[in-house]
Amino acid sequence: MPRSVARVDQGGRPPDVTVISVVPTSRRRAPYATASSARHARDSAREPVVVVTGNVHGDECTGVGACLRLAEELDEVLTAGTLHLYPSLNPEALERRTRRHPDEDVDLNRLFPGEVHGSPAERLVHATWTDISARRPDLVVDIHADAPGAIPYVLVDRAVALRGSERTRLEAECQRLAEATGLTVLQEYPDERYSRYRLDRSLTGAVLNRMQIPALTIEAGPRLVMDARAMDTVLHAVRGILASLQMLPGEPTPHPTQLPGAWRRDSGPRAGAAGVLIAMVQPGVAVHRGDVLAEVRTLGGGVLERIRAEGEGFVVSFVERAHVVSGVPVCTYGFAV
Ligand SMILES: [Zn+2]
Repeated sequence: MPRSVARVDQGGRPPDVTVISVVPTSRRRAPYATASSARHARDSAREPVVVVTGNVHGDECTGVGACLRLAEELDEVLTAGTLHLYPSLNPEALERRTRRHPDEDVDLNRLFPGEVHGSPAERLVHATWTDISARRPDLVVDIHADAPGAIPYVLVDRAVALRGSERTRLEAECQRLAEATGLTVLQEYPDERYSRYRLDRSLTGAVLNRMQIPALTIEAGPRLVMDARAMDTVLHAVRGILASLQMLPGEPTPHPTQLPGAWRRDSGPRAGAAGVLIAMVQPGVAVHRGDVLAEVRTLGGGVLERIRAEGEGFVVSFVERAHVVSGVPVCTYGFAV
C-alpha cells in the first residue's frame, strides 16, 4: 500500500474532497502493533506534518496536477514526516469550470473555518477545515493560479490576530518557509486592507490566525489549465519546503524566476481612460517609479494614457482584460519594502 487515499465527508454530497497521504517507506509497517512500531509511532509524532491543498478556486487547476504529481514523485523519496495532499477543495467548481462555489456563487476562500450548520458552501468549508485540523499540521500550503504571464510567487499572510513576540515569531517562521520555496516572496496587503478584504478568512489566513501555525499561498501558472511549467514550479517550491523541514534530502534552491528581495503585493495603478490596454513591460522585470507600465490606446492607435509605476518594484501580472475602463487596476504590483 504505497499511499493512502481518504475522502472528506460533506454530508454524502458528491463529488468528494479527496486526501492523499504520503509517509516514508520506512513507516509502512504491518497493520498490527508491535513494541517497535509503537515506539516508532511515538517518534514519528514529532516529525513534521505538512498539508498541501489545491483548487479552492475551481478555475485554478495548477494545485490539482501538482498534488497528483507530488503523490507519485515523493512516494518513494520522503524520508520523514507526513504529507497530506488535497488536490481539490472545490471539486464541483472544478467540474463546472468556475471559480466560486457553483450553488451559491461565493468565494470559498473567504469562508474559513466555515459553519457546521451553514449553507452548502459553508458546510463544505467546515468539513475541509475539520479534516485538515484533525491531521494536526505544522504547515499548510495552498496552491493557486494567477493571470496568464504572471510570475510565480509565494504569498505570506498577516498574523493580524496575534500580538507582540507571538506574531513576530510566527511571521518569521512563515518568511523562512516562504524563502525555502525558492520563489519570489511577496508580503500580503497591509493589515487594515488584509482584514477588510477578509483574507484572514482565506484558508491560509485562517490557518495562520486560528491554528496559529505557518501557512503559505503559492501562485503559479494561468487559470483553467494544468500547465506543465506551473506544476514544475510548484514541485520545486514544495520540495524546497520539505527539504528545509528535513522531510527530503538536499537543500532548498532558488527558482530561475526568483526576484530576491523584500516585496509587498498591491493593486497596480488604475486606468484613467477607457481603451485597449497595451503592456509595455514584462512581469517580473524590475521597474522604477515613473517608468511606463502600460498604455491605453484607441483602436486607431492614439495614446490616451501612459500608466506609470508608482514605486520601485515589478509587475506581478497584468489584468486579464484587453480593454479597460476608467478605475480598473491594470496590474498586480510588487512594491519594494
Ligand atoms: Zn486563487
